[in-house]
Amino acid sequence: MPTSTKDYYETLGVPRDADEKVIKKAYHNLAMEWHPDRNKSPEAGERFKEIATAYAILKDPQKRARYDLQGMEGVAHYTSEDLFGGLDLGNIFGDMGFGFGGGSIFDRMFGSRTARPQHGQDLRVQIEIPLEMVNEGGRQEVGVSHPAACSLCHGYGTKSGTPPPLCKSCNGSGRKVSTRDQSEGKQQIKIQQINVCPHCHGKGTEITDPCPTCGGYGQVEKEETIKVTIPAGIEDGVVLRVAGHGLPGDGPDISPGDLHVVVTTRSDGRFQRRGADLWRAETITVPDAVLGTTRTVPGLGDNLALTIPPGTQPDAIIQLKGKGLPRFRGNGRGDINIRIQVHVPDTLSKKERKLYEQLRELTDTDFKK
Ligand SMILES: [Zn+2]
Ligand SMILES: [Zn+2]
Repeated sequence: MPTSTKDYYETLGVPRDADEKVIKKAYHNLAMEWHPDRNKSPEAGERFKEIATAYAILKDPQKRARYDLQGMEGVAHYTSEDLFGGLDLGNIFGDMGFGFGGGSIFDRMFGSRTARPQHGQDLRVQIEIPLEMVNEGGRQEVGVSHPAACSLCHGYGTKSGTPPPLCKSCNGSGRKVSTRDQSEGKQQIKIQQINVCPHCHGKGTEITDPCPTCGGYGQVEKEETIKVTIPAGIEDGVVLRVAGHGLPGDGPDISPGDLHVVVTTRSDGRFQRRGADLWRAETITVPDAVLGTTRTVPGLGDNLALTIPPGTQPDAIIQLKGKGLPRFRGNGRGDINIRIQVHVPDTLSKKERKLYEQLRELTDTDFKK
């Protein structure tokens, strides 16, 4: 639910390592300043909302940890229920002198239970694609299994397929509000506690005659095969978004989330991929390194001729320019890089030994100079 693009620490004007006390104090001061009952400027409502949301997240160690780790993304799924349900508002507003009549400030700010997420949660799957697919791009099938709205009851969970009646316990609000008086010194303050309705668990509705297909859950497991378009040269870790194929919304009138497909390259016996470049090792003999030779190496598609020049050193890299993968969001292609390894024989025939000894006699004198 939180939509602010501002940093919550900035909103409250506290350092990132601020303790609970500091956060609470900062919140108090700002809430006093921006409470729409006191501050009549047009932006007061929006500011107050930001301040309250920042406080709800930073005061809760778990939510704060998620925010620190993942930023907005880590807390975006929280509903106003998650943020403000169970928060002891009395402690915040009781001593500020704001009344509670006519619904709490939070109901007015966020709407009560109706402030639910605009769409279902996003779903994430990972796929591996072969080098050929990276090279050419194309369509790839992705199999996903996820809950989806039950088609028999249209997601309502009722046998009739129509919206279920309101929960009698909470009258559809999904919350239980309890108020008690508490004296602090000479002052008498009201403590208001809002909890999720234990009867309907915050849903606000009650299913008496459940749908036989989904058992009242409103959702069934659905297997889908989705075709995604892979752009040529796609880099490892790129996320392709398929709108509307994520988890269903929390109710029939809320659209589903998106499917996020994380694409990685399948490991390949021929090459190692580094961006648009491909790497491969070729092992040659000592005479080949000395005298030079030619080789046939695999390419993307046709095999390629590799010329190893005379005097090639171990670990030399020979580039086959432009024979690699297409550059993602760029022009042209990468290279195929061949790292040359020289095999030094550890067993020799009599004849070979003799030749190497002759070779040594020849080269020794030159080399030692
Ligand atoms: Zn209820
Ligand atoms: Zn159903």
